Amino acid sequence: MNDTILVINCGSSSLKIAVFDASFQRLGSALAERLGQSDAFARSDDNQHFHLKPGSAHREALGVLVSHFQSTGLLRGQPLAIGHRVVHGGEAFREAVVINPQVLDTIAACASLAPLHNPVNLLGIEATAELFPDVAQVAVFDTAFHQTLPEKAFLYALPTRFYRDWGIRRYGFHGTSHRYMLSETARLLDKPESEVSLVSAHLGNGCSITAIRDGASVDTSMGLTPLEGLVMGTRSGDVDPGLFDFLAGKGLDPAEAHRILNNESGLLGLSGQTNDMRTLSEMADHGHAPSALAIDVFCFRLARYIGAMMASLKTLDALVFTGGIGENSARVRATTLAQLELFGFRLDEELNRHHGAYTAGRIDASTSRHRIMVIPTNEELMIAREAVATTSG
Ligand code: ADP
Repeated sequence: MNDTILVINCGSSSLKIAVFDASFQRLGSALAERLGQSDAFARSDDNQHFHLKPGSAHREALGVLVSHFQSTGLLRGQPLAIGHRVVHGGEAFREAVVINPQVLDTIAACASLAPLHNPVNLLGIEATAELFPDVAQVAVFDTAFHQTLPEKAFLYALPTRFYRDWGIRRYGFHGTSHRYMLSETARLLDKPESEVSLVSAHLGNGCSITAIRDGASVDTSMGLTPLEGLVMGTRSGDVDPGLFDFLAGKGLDPAEAHRILNNESGLLGLSGQTNDMRTLSEMADHGHAPSALAIDVFCFRLARYIGAMMASLKTLDALVFTGGIGENSARVRATTLAQLELFGFRLDEELNRHHGAYTAGRIDASTSRHRIMVIPTNEELMIAREAVATTSG
């Protein structure tokens, strides 16, 4: 029976797979990690562990996990549709597309913009096509939702030949999550998406914030790469571009500087301890000053960016928090919004404290000028919906 939808998300050394039924209920999911390494492993959401041969790559992991879902009966016959998360669609893709040879070539051509992700996304697509040669596969791009950014928001103030010849511009990421925030807010407020304006803050290990005006992304904090913008778990976010020259003077080559800004900075770099916000909050509560400082820098940058996003909006239906930190950290929400009273944001302390993951809801005080909401993200569900909409459209 063709009644399931597969969602596949290949990271550089991981693979996540989720199975939905035709009414978009999640039936199960599984994860493989440390792919390509001697201790590669896989497990399902019901905590079954699977043996992967040392050094197993995405193809082997996909085979093992698909067989698991087939043997448990969650996956029967051919899926209705298969959706793949693809990180970078450049300017070629404004929406999800059914994958064909030309689409594959274009995803490959965008690989210079996402060298860690697009090649591995292509591997996942190829391996899935071998398992299910007759099922339509859909590419859902992290960048597509932001293709509505106006020039004034996506251009860097660089010589225009950089954009013309090399495509250097702000692309934005986390598009699937911000798109889901739009869809959920529209549903909760009972308004058409095309009439909803939001500031959407996705705060996980990676963090980005987007201004959505009348249903379209009009500004976002990540840029040419996901390094720009907010403070993140291990990424610095914004730094002075003059830093690279300065570091070169100190003998750091560009690859080393890139590694430090991506993997050793952000909350980890500031605290000297961890990139994990929950642990940092606990350490700050126990008087660890660098952890408290890391949270302060994180929240101040976030507050600045919320203010910056307001410049692109005429009205605001809601400020929405999502991602592991956005959904769970009452402290981050309170510390950030305390700095934005000039804009009229006021939290209800009680609602803020009690709101956690799995429940969407409002956390603003009755005196707040704007609605403030927590909405758990669900990128896999969004990809499943896009896969079905694209194949049946
Ligand atoms: P990813 O971007 O990898 O999907 P998540 O969205 O799961 O990451 O977010 C991970 C972050 O969420 C971590 O910093 C984690 O500490 C934080 N987080 C999760 N639960 C809590 C909590 N209860 N309080 C504070 N931070 C939390």
